[in-house]
Amino acid sequence: MISVEEALEIVSGRAAAAVSRGAMPPESLPLGEVFGRVLRESVAADMDSPPFDRSVRDGFAVRSGDLAGAPVELAIVGESRAGASFEGSVGAAECAEIMTGAEVPPGANAVVMVEDTVRLSETTVRILKSVGGGQSIQAAGSECRRGDVILEEGRRIGVSETAVLAATGHATLRVSKRPTVAIVSTGDELVEIGQTPGPAQIRNSNGVTLAGEVRQAGGEPRLLGIVRDDTAALTRAITAGLGADILITSGGVSMGKYDLVVGVLGGQGVEIGFDRVAMKPGKPTVFGWRDDTFVFGLPGNPVSTIVAFQLFVRPLIHKLLHAAGDPDPRLEATLDSEARCDPVREACVPAVARFEDGAYRLSLASWKGSSDLVGLARANAYVMIPRQEGVLEAGTRVRFIPMGA
Ligand code: AMP
Ligand code: MG
Repeated sequence: MISVEEALEIVSGRAAAAVSRGAMPPESLPLGEVFGRVLRESVAADMDSPPFDRSVRDGFAVRSGDLAGAPVELAIVGESRAGASFEGSVGAAECAEIMTGAEVPPGANAVVMVEDTVRLSETTVRILKSVGGGQSIQAAGSECRRGDVILEEGRRIGVSETAVLAATGHATLRVSKRPTVAIVSTGDELVEIGQTPGPAQIRNSNGVTLAGEVRQAGGEPRLLGIVRDDTAALTRAITAGLGADILITSGGVSMGKYDLVVGVLGGQGVEIGFDRVAMKPGKPTVFGWRDDTFVFGLPGNPVSTIVAFQLFVRPLIHKLLHAAGDPDPRLEATLDSEARCDPVREACVPAVARFEDGAYRLSLASWKGSSDLVGLARANAYVMIPRQEGVLEAGTRVRFIPMGA
């Protein structure tokens, strides 16, 4: 049995090799369709930002030197509004009315906000306060210069990335294709979600759960449905699933008489990288590959499936997407109560993290084992409990992964 770390190295190594062979080529898409995708090009600004000296207030564009003896009265020589260029310039003892987002007129070097003025007539205003040069002006090029790299290759496109790509005129982007992920739910006991399970039956919760996780990780799920614990049926489903970039099966990988998945994978030419990991839950997790298709045989217990996906499948998809950085940076928290360790297996279990007095505290969720989805739904994190003898005392620092949305 290998450790979680060793297993992850095998997954990452295979993914890196596939990527260096050119797996997962990029595609070009309109900006409106790339949310959540990973950039496959570095993106530069097409012009200075802001492109002109811009007012950030409604008020009056002035020459700051004129305001030394404030309050002072200035002549209003015109108006600068967003979207229109100012004709003329502001001279000594003059000012121009200006709106947020408008160009600062030539001659002016500061903006006094309207709250600090009293309008005396159509053509005169009293400025109540003096301001320094540059006040309430965003200078041309102060955010970035034309040609500056604003987003690096490998960056995932979220809210701020979309906004800056739009502002800098990037209507089409090169992004990673989404890896297709076939999902097969194995088990004679499984029925569809809309059905009422008969005696000894349960609903196929893993199928849709895995589909959601795949989507969240950046892949494209293909649900292949429920497959019985039968070699011929499994062979058909697994053959179909091997056409995807990744095949995930759930169930059928333990030591039972009807756990047939590993045998069928072998029969289809899948090389097995590992089939046991020293982790809790999720010990029978299987990883293999055939050509450039990756295969995970995840244990059927729903929490085991979710944890194994979190620890191994997410990092694989992250790598295949050519995404930069860590897929799930670990955070640190202080344990509220003691946690029992396992001398053989590292644990990754549901927990409740909360932020208190500037630091995270963590309590182990009251979950009843790897089939307890109700307990899982009360948790908001997975805590890593190292493999060792004894217990971690309350107050011990531990690492955890916040659960995704
Ligand atoms: P297995 O790994 O096939 O031995 O299954 C372990 C446990 O997980 C059993 O209690 C199964 O009923 C349950 N299980 C297997 N597949 C699913 C699934 N798709 N959805 C929910 N539970 C499942
Ligand atoms: Mg089963």
